Amino acid sequence: MAKVRIDLDTCIRAGECYYNHPELFRMNDNGEPTLLARELDTPELIRHAREAAVVCPASAIIVEE
Ligand code: SF4
Repeated sequence: MAKVRIDLDTCIRAGECYYNHPELFRMNDNGEPTLLARELDTPELIRHAREAAVVCPASAIIVEE
């Protein structure tokens, strides 16, 4: 089990997270990324969250394991 969160103070709204991983992230009506699931309970979701964290240009995605 791992958890993921987004630091909206750091996020620059670049959109890579919800573009590349719509199974984990989506854009809300304010143009901010939000999480579809905070707790990641499959190895696949954890891997996708790690990938999103690496790709995020603002290092705003934090995976806690
Ligand atoms: S990829 Fe990073 S900077 Fe871009 S919207 Fe997602 S959290 Fe924000």
